[in-house]
Amino acid sequence: MRKILNFIGGDYREPESGTYFDNVDPSTGEVYSQIPDSDERDVQKAVTAAKSAFEEWSSYSNQQRSDFLRKISQLIEEQIEELAVSESIDNGKPLWLSRSVDIPRAASNFRFFADAATQFSSESHEMTGSAINYTLRQPLGAVGCISPWNLPLYLFTWKIAPALAAGNTVVAKPSEITPMTAYMLSQIVKDSELPPGVLNIVHGKGPKVGEPIVKHDDIKAVSFTGGTATGARIAGGIASQFKKVSLELGGKNPNIVFDDCDFNTALNITIKSSFANQGQICLCGSRILVQKGIYDDFRDALVERARNIKVGDPMSPDSKLGALVSKDHLKKVLSYVDLAREEGGKVLCGGERLELEGRCKKGYFMSPAVIEGLDHNCRTNMEEIFGPVVTLIPFETEEDALAIANSTEYGLAASLWTQNLSRAHRLAAKLDFGIVWVNCWLLRDLRTPFGGSKNSGLGREGGWEAMRFFTEPKNVCIKY
Ligand code: NAD
Repeated sequence: MRKILNFIGGDYREPESGTYFDNVDPSTGEVYSQIPDSDERDVQKAVTAAKSAFEEWSSYSNQQRSDFLRKISQLIEEQIEELAVSESIDNGKPLWLSRSVDIPRAASNFRFFADAATQFSSESHEMTGSAINYTLRQPLGAVGCISPWNLPLYLFTWKIAPALAAGNTVVAKPSEITPMTAYMLSQIVKDSELPPGVLNIVHGKGPKVGEPIVKHDDIKAVSFTGGTATGARIAGGIASQFKKVSLELGGKNPNIVFDDCDFNTALNITIKSSFANQGQICLCGSRILVQKGIYDDFRDALVERARNIKVGDPMSPDSKLGALVSKDHLKKVLSYVDLAREEGGKVLCGGERLELEGRCKKGYFMSPAVIEGLDHNCRTNMEEIFGPVVTLIPFETEEDALAIANSTEYGLAASLWTQNLSRAHRLAAKLDFGIVWVNCWLLRDLRTPFGGSKNSGLGREGGWEAMRFFTEPKNVCIKY
């Protein structure tokens, strides 16, 4: 059985504990590889390696760092097929999705920040006639990058690439639920001849590996993507260390559909924003607010489309949805369908575990659910479900829609569907979310600030935001 290994100081390493735990293929329910059960001893080795590589890496020219990142990007592109197959086995997502979105995006993350390394600049402020101030933006040292399971290589590289571009060295931990492509990245990094210790990858569980990375005195910044409860624990745990922290957390995103929308486009994209990646994207619109004039038509059309979504073997090209990531997660998502019923909701379609034929018989599949009839402030409409479950909420006026949309503790992303330009601008300004899409969803320009407000996080990723996060500004004032 394939054994995953840590990647520390440029070499593969067994965990210090000598023990491993099971990695399950969610489409079959079978164990298919072994994950190192690392602990703080492995983290210590990785931090030592990252610290000793820092001086050399941070002294490289921007162009040299850029060249390494571009090489890694090219190597990912050359291995799209192997990486995509591995991502789908590890996560349960359809292969066409890994092949067209996850892995190409991992390559673009490195390519984008290869460019950023050569384009990043800093400010100067002249005090007319008396002095000039300029800002140096210097790398921080060894930094920690921790990522979740829903977009494994995509989000792992979204953190690592800017950290390296800015001149830092990295200790990174992928989710223990989907570690395979991060393991494959180790070989890519080796093949790119990135100096040993610049990127270290430690596998294992959150409390045993993530926490020691976060709390280590020599880790100067932490970039974390994951659940809100974990984010709160991290923020609390390092409050007294005053290190930089970026937290990309959960969401309960509204998708607001007005009477005057382009009905078919809104419907087509709503199907995607509801169920793409089995609804396991932090940006999925899980609360669909529909204006009363088109509510019945929109609901009927959505339910009809949801019923016909093919859920199946992730390796089959006609499966639109694959398996949920784990048995526990499937259980959690199904429990929310039960909760919705208890809270008075009507399940219009789906919400059931599916038993497929053949090799996927024991996989973690469920049918996509559409639910209506719930209060907008019940638990089903307030808590993140993170699966293929959406609720429909009718509204009358723009003010109602805004109040309902803003009523959760989360503030990650909102989508608006309207042909009224003034309304789009008005609402975009008032929606309390880090990202607002108008007549689209998940249309991403990597230069834009990415992140959420309220319980969806702290700080922003993307473009210069990421480069600024991974550097310390220093003002130098020179008197004329
Ligand atoms: P999670 O919080 O359970 O785990 C995320 C990572 O943190 C994993 O690598 C895990 O091992 C690690 N971890 C766990 N406990 C830790 C601790 N005490 N200290 C340090 N690290 C620890 O999240 P998950 O279940 O893997 O991911 C799903 C969540 O991620 C959802 O809430 C989703 O909304 C969120 N997410 C947010 C974004 C975003 O950009 N805002 C993107 C994707 C996913």
